[in-house]
Amino acid sequence: MRPLWVVLGGLCVALAHPAATARGDRALVVVSFDGFRPDYLGRGLTPVLDGLRAEGSRAAYMHNVFPTKTFPNHHSIATGLYPESHGVLGNSVYDVARDRRIGYGPQLYSNPGVTPIWTLNQMAGGGRHSGVMMWPGGEFSYNGVLPTFRQPYDLQVGWESRVDTVVGWLVHPSTPANLVMLYFEEPDRRAHAFGPDSPEVRYHIQKLDNITRYLRQKLAAHNLMDRVNVVQLSDHGMEAVTLARIINITDFVSTSQFKMIDTSPVIQLFPVKACNPSALVDVCRLTEVIRRRTQEWSSCGVLLWKKLEYFEKTHKPATFTTIFPHQNIRPWGYRQSN
Ligand SMILES: [Zn+2]
Repeated sequence: MRPLWVVLGGLCVALAHPAATARGDRALVVVSFDGFRPDYLGRGLTPVLDGLRAEGSRAAYMHNVFPTKTFPNHHSIATGLYPESHGVLGNSVYDVARDRRIGYGPQLYSNPGVTPIWTLNQMAGGGRHSGVMMWPGGEFSYNGVLPTFRQPYDLQVGWESRVDTVVGWLVHPSTPANLVMLYFEEPDRRAHAFGPDSPEVRYHIQKLDNITRYLRQKLAAHNLMDRVNVVQLSDHGMEAVTLARIINITDFVSTSQFKMIDTSPVIQLFPVKACNPSALVDVCRLTEVIRRRTQEWSSCGVLLWKKLEYFEKTHKPATFTTIFPHQNIRPWGYRQSN
């Protein structure tokens, strides 16, 4: 019996059988290719993934959450919650009360009551063990529980080595994993540096196709094909940006007046004197400048929000100002591959 291979978000999902339960029983491997646009599959570079889609199951697309950032989307996949609920609102956030930026670390993921799937799996008992290979947020403790197997983000760990390790988790003699989360940082990294249509991204699309073949070969070599389901997905897409659409926000926002948190496509602006009445004047001035700039920018496709309402539901900073190219407003992952 062959495993069900499922590809999501333009990738594929192969669900073999009912959910994995205890040791020696079926297992699930969730694979994420960071920033893998659905239409990357239509470039003739992915024969392995194309084959899996043909023989397994596939979804036409995934609808990513906003903001279209790696950490929020991976945690939404892991928890089933929107960012305003799980609290990972960006790759970085600003702690207003303590006047500090919070980047990747346990504090970013610290939100009581929010439990990722790998932790829930182990809390269910019955010999269930989870393995998390570089999945964002995967090396931290939730409800006092750490994954039985975990590898923090480390680009020095090669891709085949990651596959070898997670297969080792699946066949561990005493605590075999029945749930594995496996993360690859491409093609997001190269697409940020060179653009989604670059030769560098083409190379890494092919490399990801090859690592998919390698994963399958390793599962087969360990006689795991009958009991391991594989879901392959991505967290968001990627859009090319031309020089005409690049906005240098420091041209009109003083870094002495505002803190700027995170990076494109969503930048968070926090007035330094938020509690000072005179700062309100500055904010009003800024708002007017932004309003005028927005009108000017309409020709080059920029849209601006003063505040995201759903962030108000959280205890995280709520005074977000966001700017990103108008053409990118639609959810990237929503674009159908075919
Ligand atoms: Zn990402």
